[in-house]
Amino acid sequence: MKVLISADIEGIAGVFHPEQTRAGNGEYEAARRWMTLEANAAIEGAFAGGATQVWVNDSHGGFRNLLPDLLDARAQVVLGKPRTLGMMAGLEYGASLVFMIGYHAMSQTRGILAHTINSFAFARVSLNGVEVGEAGLYGALAEEYGAQVALLSGDDVFAEETAPRFPGARFVVTKSATGHASGVTQSPANARAAIESAAREVVQQHLAEGRAPQATRAAAAKPVECELRVQTSALADLFCQWPTMTRVDAVTLRFSAASAEHVVRMLNCLSAMSFMLR
Ligand SMILES: [Zn+2]
Repeated sequence: MKVLISADIEGIAGVFHPEQTRAGNGEYEAARRWMTLEANAAIEGAFAGGATQVWVNDSHGGFRNLLPDLLDARAQVVLGKPRTLGMMAGLEYGASLVFMIGYHAMSQTRGILAHTINSFAFARVSLNGVEVGEAGLYGALAEEYGAQVALLSGDDVFAEETAPRFPGARFVVTKSATGHASGVTQSPANARAAIESAAREVVQQHLAEGRAPQATRAAAAKPVECELRVQTSALADLFCQWPTMTRVDAVTLRFSAASAEHVVRMLNCLSAMSFMLR
């Protein structure tokens, strides 16, 4: 049983402010350490539950926040960008279960540091008419590769909005939101203990149910219609340089993709393009 852990930073216990998520300051150095330790809790739980391999994917910003020397040495770590599968890189080598640790609510909701991929560029993202955040987007990609999203952690708004999408999954709520940059957090130690025991139980449960030891990419990737509300009409002008993009109105765009993977890759291309207008 192989587990792929995707670790973001905004949903980690103790993280409330953008400064804590950006390199170049002391608050960030503390937050990335908490992120690394929450990833370790998930790794520890996965191995204790019977996983034979655990990969951990750094899924925040430049994808190089996790501190390799602090990470559990049994795990393989995926670092750096660009990479084709973004927050799910590693999935191309196979995984049965996916854990999303330190995730956050979608853009324009009341979650702590809520955004979708790139807060400068994207206001709303819908797949086939259903609004999604990063968990919904990358969860669709995981499922396309035959992996099951089994454990997620983040704030209460994230858990509430995401639970209907993954009805069989476990959630660990690390903090509750009172605003975009405020709320009430569990202690990092308590959050880690909760993640570790949930990870252990989730892996034990899946082994008991006799899931295939390693999934391969699902045969049928289905076409997806993606509608995108962007933050400014200038961004829409820029994104419409892409030949297959359709402009719906000043800030709404639409494109068709062959699969969830292609949606993710397209959004990551647009996100990279948006740096031209920053
Ligand atoms: Zn992030």
